[in-house]
Amino acid sequence: MRGDAAYHPLRIDVGAPGAEEQEHPMREKVIIIGSGPAGLTAAIYAGRAALRPLVFEGFSAGGLIPGGQLMFTTDVENYPGFPTGVLGPDLMKNFRDQAERCGARLITQDVSEVDFRRRPFVVRSDDHTVEAHAVIIATGARANWLNLPNEQRLAKSGGGVSACAVCDGALPTFRQQELVVVGGGDSAIEEGSYLTKFAKKVHLVHRRDRLRASKAMQERFFKLVEAGKMSPVWDTQVIDVLGDSMITGVRLKNVKTGAESELPCKGLFLAIGHTPNTEVFRGQIECDEKGYIRLPRPGSTCTNVEGVFAAGDVADHVYRQAVTAAGTGCMAALDAERWLAAQGIE
Ligand code: NAP
Repeated sequence: MRGDAAYHPLRIDVGAPGAEEQEHPMREKVIIIGSGPAGLTAAIYAGRAALRPLVFEGFSAGGLIPGGQLMFTTDVENYPGFPTGVLGPDLMKNFRDQAERCGARLITQDVSEVDFRRRPFVVRSDDHTVEAHAVIIATGARANWLNLPNEQRLAKSGGGVSACAVCDGALPTFRQQELVVVGGGDSAIEEGSYLTKFAKKVHLVHRRDRLRASKAMQERFFKLVEAGKMSPVWDTQVIDVLGDSMITGVRLKNVKTGAESELPCKGLFLAIGHTPNTEVFRGQIECDEKGYIRLPRPGSTCTNVEGVFAAGDVADHVYRQAVTAAGTGCMAALDAERWLAAQGIE
């Protein structure tokens, strides 16, 4: 759930930009783009490998801020090593402090342009043009929202609206309550079935009368419906979210009849897909039809461009967990280190 915990983006200590820098751009061994669990884990490993990684930690690209999606999460209860949970922003501050202690340098700007056609590669932000022998992309993905005014307000204030049931669903406020999940894909079923562990009932609101989810997930859903734990609301869109400081219900519209109704609930979970933050790499790196970076070599973070690696949600539409992102961030740093060594750059 979005929280408002304070976060203090830091400054860059690589020197102010200027005419001199434009003529002679800085040259780095490895640049990391993104500062969620994947990017900062890559920074920790690359730093410990004495590569002095330069991290473009972002500023506001994709609606995210430095630290990524976890900056909008309150309690993180599933990150190993924190038996009593940890606040998302606190966890990311720890990642960041550790990356800096390991030698990473951070620029709090969005990358506006890359050139992977020439070598060394070129990475640009508003104020910096930097060359790099290797690049690790860890720009993550952003959850899709319905973009209703009250949805955004309650999501930001921790009012019971979330785009991650696995992150937020176990909070006491949702226990033994009626909850709503929006979507008809695998995520909606997976997240809805996860919520049934705590909720009184989970209503699945889907805009069609047929699920997009896989056969196995559909079977799981209909078993939960039979057991009275989930219930479908077909052909329906959520058109408003009700409640002042906490959600009290949703306003629905049947897309076939146009009839409107209200469904009381204490939690709303969006599961209508994610959008990977790959816009800036378009045409430079191979992505799948949904924009996720393709990793052509299973078990590695290599992309189709030699020397460019990808980690975390930007290349993963299946697991999308902080811990899996951190794991692939580690892999990307090791892959980059080995690749640089093979090029004689150490
Ligand atoms: P998805 O397959 O793209 O499904 C998104 C769902 O949200 C669709 O049912 C879509 O409706 C609905 N939707 C989209 N925009 C909407 C809007 N504006 N208003 C209302 N509904 C909207 O996304 P996903 O479920 O996140 O899955 C993404 C990928 O991850 C898939 O490949 C999936 O198989 C995979 N995944 C796998 C697992 C697993 O195997 N355990 C778990 C989660 C995800 P329509 O159907 O009408 O388009």
